[in-house]
Amino acid sequence: MDRRKKGYTDAAKIHFPRPWYGEYLREVMDQAIQDLNATVILEKVTDLDLLENGKILVHSPSSVEEFDLVHLCVGHMAYQDPYDLYGNPRYIHNPYPAEEKLQIIPQGSRVGIIGTGLTGLDMMRCLKMLKEDMKIYFVSDTGRFTTVRVHEPALSLQYVTLENLELEKQRQNGFVSLDRMIEWFEKECESLGINLSETIAKFGQGTKEQLERQLIDNEKFGVLQAIIHHMDYYLPNYWLALNEIDKKRYRQEYKGLFELIRTSIPQETVNNLLTWWDSGQVSVFKDMESVTEFPTEFEIGFSGGRKLKVDYLINSTGQNKQIKISKYNSALLNNTLNKRILQPEPFDGVQVTWPDSCAVSQRYGVIENLFVHGQIIEGLQYGNNSAGMLLRHAEEVVRKLVEKM
Ligand SMILES: Cc1cc2nc3c(=O)[nH]c(=O)nc-3n(C[C@H](O)[C@H](O)[C@H](O)COP(=O)(O)OP(=O)(O)OC[C@H]3O[C@@H](n4cnc5c(N)ncnc54)[C@H](O)[C@@H]3O)c2cc1C
Repeated sequence: MDRRKKGYTDAAKIHFPRPWYGEYLREVMDQAIQDLNATVILEKVTDLDLLENGKILVHSPSSVEEFDLVHLCVGHMAYQDPYDLYGNPRYIHNPYPAEEKLQIIPQGSRVGIIGTGLTGLDMMRCLKMLKEDMKIYFVSDTGRFTTVRVHEPALSLQYVTLENLELEKQRQNGFVSLDRMIEWFEKECESLGINLSETIAKFGQGTKEQLERQLIDNEKFGVLQAIIHHMDYYLPNYWLALNEIDKKRYRQEYKGLFELIRTSIPQETVNNLLTWWDSGQVSVFKDMESVTEFPTEFEIGFSGGRKLKVDYLINSTGQNKQIKISKYNSALLNNTLNKRILQPEPFDGVQVTWPDSCAVSQRYGVIENLFVHGQIIEGLQYGNNSAGMLLRHAEEVVRKLVEKM
């Protein structure tokens, strides 16, 4: 689709409101459906079966149909429920679509948002837009926000490159150590004039003071964000070059910080947060330990014995990426796990071959006509929480398939 139709020649660099992006996707989708003469069946798929003739049977409440090939693109996994509140009418477990879900909260309520990530901030903004008189409390284990999305200068990388990765893999039996990757990253920062440890000390805690400071002192930080975002499309290559011990070490020691910088917050949202925080309309509580349910309210417990009462709680703790059969999953996910068509991956989601994206099953081996995309393969396609990465990979998978036909 030609983005210029909308009057934007540099759309890739602009941060559009979400509804516009949604409209754009809808237009692209409608056009593609028309061009391909595709049939759209609006139904929830509940199960799959692999047939002896190699085809895949797709079940929905009103039909069972046989397909030669299936792409599973079911989106994100089930939300976490860390305080076991699922089913409480004052607890919003899955907060999207936000405008619809937040309607149940009356004016004047005390609302707790569990989690300080991008979903939590989205909830804050949506609540303020929908209701004027609302007391908002962020409640979380860390009380830590991420970082401000600042201007990223154009740059090209010298050390953290795919070429270096491939060369090192050839030298080291197909693997690259985490230490080597960190060395490249540090060299990259140094060559671009960034003192990494100083920058991390300055901005790596996600506190109010650090957010305030970033709004005015962000030139170097923009370079750091640019390096990390340059790596985006190759994150799966880096991830899959690590051995299992290094993958664990990365997750324990570095992932939190890396994601804090990568998953940045638009400036407008940070400005809102700081203004409402200063005026007392929003408060932030950390060291959350428990939630006690009462008929008309919740009591939240924090370490040291502090307590807070709220009328409603919104879950913004993100998805549970460790896959297992559970009451929170869709029927489709539970059924395919139960039949071992899909197989959990130790580093989240389910197993696929990379980069072909074919499901890997203990029972059926590599299923060459079942392709899996999206967050559910994040354990292999590290960092795939962006539409761009998913699109690019899907295109690659489909192109290869077409070439084989
Ligand atoms: C609030 C929010 C803001 C975001 N902002 C950004 C951003 O600024 N930039 C960015 O790059 N990414 C952003 N993301 C992430 C981005 O939206 C996702 O990475 C992307 O939408 C995932 O695409 P997907 O096709 O894998 O899944 P989805 O877009 O979730 O699509 C999954 C589809 O599968 C359907 N489905 C699921 N289960 C079944 C079933 N059993 N049967 C039939 N159909 C089923 C669903 O109805 C849905 O249509 C954001 C996400 C959220 C929630």
